[in-house]
Amino acid sequence: MGRVYNFSAGPAVLPEEVLREAQEEMMDYRGCGMSVNEMSHRSKMFDDIINEAEADFRELVGVPENYKVLFLQGGASLQFAQIPMNLMKNRVADYIITGQWAKKAWQEAKIFGDARAIASSEDKTFSYIPDCSDLPIDEDADYVYICENNTIYGTEYHKLPNTKGKLLVADVSSNFLSRPIDVEKYGIVYGGVQKNVGPAGLVISCIREDLITDDVLEGTPTMMKFKTQADAKSLYNTPNCWAIYMCGKVFKWLKANGGLEAMNAKNEKKAALLYDYLDQSKLFSGTVRKEDRSLMNVPFVTGNKDLDAKFVAQAKEAGLENLKGHRTVGGMRASIYNAMPYEGVEALVKFMTEFEKENL
Ligand SMILES: *Cc1c(COP(=O)(O)O)cnc(C)c1O
Repeated sequence: MGRVYNFSAGPAVLPEEVLREAQEEMMDYRGCGMSVNEMSHRSKMFDDIINEAEADFRELVGVPENYKVLFLQGGASLQFAQIPMNLMKNRVADYIITGQWAKKAWQEAKIFGDARAIASSEDKTFSYIPDCSDLPIDEDADYVYICENNTIYGTEYHKLPNTKGKLLVADVSSNFLSRPIDVEKYGIVYGGVQKNVGPAGLVISCIREDLITDDVLEGTPTMMKFKTQADAKSLYNTPNCWAIYMCGKVFKWLKANGGLEAMNAKNEKKAALLYDYLDQSKLFSGTVRKEDRSLMNVPFVTGNKDLDAKFVAQAKEAGLENLKGHRTVGGMRASIYNAMPYEGVEALVKFMTEFEKENL
């Protein structure tokens, strides 16, 4: 059928079962004679799709009753502005800078107030998660912000920061639904779905209800108020119907495959296979401090740019796609999201072993 093992960081691999189901329903969704791409977002048919998606998501994640689940547009990047517009009442917020996405969020928040960088790992190209046990959190901070999995650099928080009672806001775009998550620990936890969940163009945000108010920064557009979206159940205007439909299918796939505990076990097994190989390799090495390694994004290098390029090109010929690393890290990056089968990582490690033999 010509499918490759796709290690793209995002948009990324989706479960084959989900793609097939969508294909089957493309021309005629459940006897209604049209595609989900063609139906009104106000139709009964679509209402069922979005309600079922939310119910499945809530069950899968264990979202508490006092949290709203919103389906938003504008990508994770629009959240960088929407969050301060809705939460920055004191106009102070504390950011932990662990990579490009955290940095962009911080820079955006500066438009609205005193956004402070209270910890950073930029000194070592974001190759670790800073110590977050005793942060200099501002008394007036409206929230503390983190990016929980750093897609580009391959680090992941394995323990949440001590926010000293302040609200925690987290971007989980690239580890969303990769493991169980305790929503109660966050004021807002959100992610763009195109990394680990679904197609591009949709953000899912779990927001504690008391944070959804009319008390937003002056000048906040209607569309940017969480309250507008919450009151309209994510249907204030036309949502990304297709992405919501596809995510709904992925939630069902996750449930059928044992839920988030089972997914975490699978992800640990996949990551261990690759990291164990890297740790004993004489050609390749991982770029991240061991205790901060991500289960989702695995950057590695040979230390030789030409050899890296040769590796990426030959891997592509062998059906292992999108392994080129981000330009700021160089080398390679394998994104091994939920939908990447164990066999895909096995094929990668086998290819790396052969490449090492030939090029060392
Ligand atoms: C990709 C990514 C973003 C940006 O997402 P967009 O939907 O393109 O705005 C933000 N945060 C993280 C962690 C990401 O991986």
